[in-house]
Amino acid sequence: MAIEKLEGVILRVRPQGETSKILTAFTPRRGLVSLIAKGARSPKSKFGGSLEVANRVQLVYYHRDTRDLQILSQVDILERFQRVQSGVGRLALAEACFEILLRTESGQQASGRLYDLLVQALRGLEKGEQGLRNVFRSFVLHFLAESGVAPQLGSCRRCGRVEVPTRLQFDVEHGGYVCDQCAPESRTVVPAGGRTLEWARWLGQISPEKAAVAISQRTAAELDRWLQLYLAYHFDTLQNLRSLVFLNGLGKVRGDG
Ligand SMILES: [Zn+2]
Repeated sequence: MAIEKLEGVILRVRPQGETSKILTAFTPRRGLVSLIAKGARSPKSKFGGSLEVANRVQLVYYHRDTRDLQILSQVDILERFQRVQSGVGRLALAEACFEILLRTESGQQASGRLYDLLVQALRGLEKGEQGLRNVFRSFVLHFLAESGVAPQLGSCRRCGRVEVPTRLQFDVEHGGYVCDQCAPESRTVVPAGGRTLEWARWLGQISPEKAAVAISQRTAAELDRWLQLYLAYHFDTLQNLRSLVFLNGLGKVRGDG
């Protein structure tokens, strides 16, 4: 049994028995890690308020390979996201990112790149004033790229034209789009305007931290329909994201778009 120090983001915290808590953190070095914080439910606990969802923390624990649940010894907060933690809409978008990591195999593996993207998304949700949902969309596009299933948005997949067409159809099955001159090859298509393609290209390039920019309702609806089908097509476990269902149920949230 060795003492291990690990940086991570807390994705989930659950009560365990009368006195303890179990937390799940995403870490760049070990992927998802579950830890038990003994006595954490007591007001006098040494963990204090450090075990809050979305905190970026340094975890100190006793690592044992044979154990699913590691025993937490100490937590130091590296970065707090107070607007995310106190805002219903911001938190739901952060939790939608967490769900993707928790519910997919590629999300659970150790990845410095995915970890950086997650931290960038939290910073984007913390600082952004409008177009917050673009932070989530950007995170999704980067996640797809990291999982090896990035949509190819550079040109029409049939005629190869790179100019942005007025109208197009995203082809969910083949991972690209076809322009208005070409007929799609699959039945799973999402019609969209050229502007939506331009936003999709931008969101796949920009850091999620800088993606909070307002877009039109129409573009937002086209992007969401396409990304939802795309995620569901590639990941059985992402048929619907609970956090997004919750967020949509809230209706229009300030800063959303
Ligand atoms: Zn074409």
